[in-house]
Amino acid sequence: MAVPARRTSKMRKRNRRGHIKLATPNLAPCPNCGELRISHRVCPSCGFYNGKQVVKVNN
Ligand SMILES: [Zn+2]
Repeated sequence: MAVPARRTSKMRKRNRRGHIKLATPNLAPCPNCGELRISHRVCPSCGFYNGKQVVKVNN
């Protein structure tokens, strides 16, 4: 089995992982209540999706 000839330095390791990060969610205002919500998801504040009430929201 192949084995690395040299230990990867801290700099090399950190440079390689420099672009690994969490993606920010795609937020867009809800057309019904105007609250920011993740696109292609039911609005958490009014329960609307595609112009219809699809889930009950207790507030
Ligand atoms: Zn909404």
